[in-house]
Amino acid sequence: MPSNRTLLIAGNWKMNNDVAAAAKLADELAEALPEVPEGVEVLVCPPTIDLVTVHDRIQAAPIALGAQNVYWEASGAYTGESSCDMLKSAGCTYCIIGHSERRDYFGETDEDENKKATALIAAGIVPVFCCGEPEEIREAGTYVEHVTAQVKAGLAGLELTDPDQLVIAYEPIWAIGTGKTATADDAQEVCGAIRETLVEMFGTEMAEGIRVLYGGSAKPGNIAELVAKPDVDGALVGGASLSAADFSSMVVKAVE
Ligand code: PEP
Repeated sequence: MPSNRTLLIAGNWKMNNDVAAAAKLADELAEALPEVPEGVEVLVCPPTIDLVTVHDRIQAAPIALGAQNVYWEASGAYTGESSCDMLKSAGCTYCIIGHSERRDYFGETDEDENKKATALIAAGIVPVFCCGEPEEIREAGTYVEHVTAQVKAGLAGLELTDPDQLVIAYEPIWAIGTGKTATADDAQEVCGAIRETLVEMFGTEMAEGIRVLYGGSAKPGNIAELVAKPDVDGALVGGASLSAADFSSMVVKAVE
């Protein structure tokens, strides 16, 4: 458990839940989490179409709202995209960027993630910057180099004034949605290496305050073990975030 960082349990709903289903899940979460234990922060990231509805439903609860994607331009002819200010107007304070599904299915590059991170920070939205290796890189043994290179390229040139302006999520691709969780030691190894990279990039004081999450089949049964590691500051949760019971139980178990 990190001594001076507030844990973050973040749900990534991905492309699940139409407006009615999102309202229902948001109501269930607000009911399950009327307050959250000290030392943990809760975030949900619904699909763009659900943001306004979910914002209305969780307003009174201690649950933050995040988007799953953003475009870096301010406005204009970018069909299908949403700007930072649009996300802000919908109540978002966080935005996931660089998820492996965006990189793999939509061809997003480190340069794209860098532009997104820069625009979000300028707009006062916290990027949840995802990084992680595919199975073949894990097997080749070069996963630390792979992940730290993504961090260096994706976050190059960012100017931070506060560690709370940025969150990193280490998500080994082979563990996403597969039921194969990295062990807590695997998570610590890479999250620790990410923190060393953050020290090189932003200095020790800043890096010590930036939260580094683990993601990949995190669930109620393994969250406590994961966040017991010194450089794992919470989880980005896919599948288990679609159940209010599972997600709220992860929030409680993280600090038990
Ligand atoms: C994710 O894709 O962000 C994720 C961690 O998914 P899951 O928890 O389902 O593995």
